[in-house]
Amino acid sequence: MKEAYHVLRDSFGYEAFRGCQGEVIARTLAGEHSLVLMPTGGGKSLCFQVPALVLAGESRQESGSLPPLTLVISPLVALMKDQVDTLNRKGIEAAMVNSLLSREQREDRYRRIQSGEFKLLYVTPERFRKPDFLDVLRSRHIVLMAVDEAHCISEWGHDFRPDYSRMREIRRVLGDPTTIALTATATRDVQIDIIEQLGLSGSDETRLHCKIFHEGIDRPNLELTVETVWGVDEKLDAIAKTVDRWPRGPGIVYFTLIRKLEEMSERLRKRGIPHIQYHGDLPRHRRNEIQNRFMRGDAPLVLATNAFGMGIDKEDIRFVLHAEVPSSLESYYQEIGRAGRDGEPSLCTLLYSQDDLLTQMEFNQWSNPDADFYHRVYDFLKFDTVEVRAFGLEWLRERLSDRRKQDRRLETALSMLQRYGVIEDENDLSNVTVQAPLPATLASDADRSAKLQRDQKKLYALVEYVQAEDRKEYLHRYFGVDVPA
Ligand code: ADP
Ligand code: MG
Repeated sequence: MKEAYHVLRDSFGYEAFRGCQGEVIARTLAGEHSLVLMPTGGGKSLCFQVPALVLAGESRQESGSLPPLTLVISPLVALMKDQVDTLNRKGIEAAMVNSLLSREQREDRYRRIQSGEFKLLYVTPERFRKPDFLDVLRSRHIVLMAVDEAHCISEWGHDFRPDYSRMREIRRVLGDPTTIALTATATRDVQIDIIEQLGLSGSDETRLHCKIFHEGIDRPNLELTVETVWGVDEKLDAIAKTVDRWPRGPGIVYFTLIRKLEEMSERLRKRGIPHIQYHGDLPRHRRNEIQNRFMRGDAPLVLATNAFGMGIDKEDIRFVLHAEVPSSLESYYQEIGRAGRDGEPSLCTLLYSQDDLLTQMEFNQWSNPDADFYHRVYDFLKFDTVEVRAFGLEWLRERLSDRRKQDRRLETALSMLQRYGVIEDENDLSNVTVQAPLPATLASDADRSAKLQRDQKKLYALVEYVQAEDRKEYLHRYFGVDVPA
């Protein structure tokens, strides 16, 4: 542990470990597995970065062999880039391999890995599909495997990534390295699933035992309230009341549907309440511009869909209001987590209406295609490829879907087919080719209806939260934490 403190001070410039960091690092250095649950911004990265440097440094003294490598699995290129840039600025040898590299860049990076460069290597789980990457890894001893955003492992989680579910197999290929999984939000069910999927559900005696570190989810400065509302006027009043309390914000009002967001924007404008809008239908440069304005503090109020969130680590957000019922407590908790990072009193209000609940229930139906639908989409892609390429998404939709606006089945199906590696790019059908058979789980009626039922159950938990006498206590139970005394 002495080395860990040196690394903390000399490489990172910090004086002390935070929360359970020290304990997690000691355990990791002892070669034991952990699952770490810490809120966003809590300092999860250090839990594997410090051991990575300590372990790479220790073996330097043994002569001859290449220094061992820590492999970090991360779901998003943006998240990796952020960490790698920060590490490089501190002079720490870290790199990433992702699909955005040119072929030359990739080959160069592979050569450098093989020659013993880098102490940390960041990759997406899809990278392990490439045999040449596995070959490159064979030249290094993988001393530690860190699975960041580990909730992506679980189909029960809110952000499932099929390639994450191959982690157990990948661990085996890498020689069963010490493993640390990290996430900000996971229900009790998801925690158990993560440990199982990693193949770490053994007992203490089998040395497979994975300890769960849970920093808790309590945010004492957040006031959690629910207001039952009928119709858009009552929603408008509730928003106006909150803005009155914090005229300079900053605050976020979340919506599920862009249509409802725009409708509210119009009403706020008529009331003379200044605000900006952020949603997925705006072009990227416009979204960046809006995000920057909000981050600078030039805009007190933003109406947003859940597309607004990544990279919003503004300290002084005073309120997060949900104008529509979100799809689960996981996403609700993640979204309100952006409020009050500075520790000052902040308000999180959920505007609850029966109509919105029905919309979400319907949305669940429409975003959970059955097995038959997957078969049909798959057959079109495989046997009518020429037409699909020529006429595109809308042509395909006409052949498959109900014309109703909420019908998201085609989008969901294409997105899942991409996640499972059946097609390359869900957003570009002009060159589509079918690269794999239809995955068994997508073709299974039982699996599909189980998934729908789980989604409905999550929504039901939200209703229970609304009705709970003690909402904080309900959240604690849901996320499997002991209630603080
Ligand atoms: P998470 O992944 O849990 O969301 P990060 O690992 O990105 O959080 O850390 C959030 C911030 O906290 C970073 O800027 C990091 O440098 C800082 N930080 C982490 N641990 C410490 C520490 N022990 N002392 C001071 N700052 C820390
Ligand atoms: Mg992180």
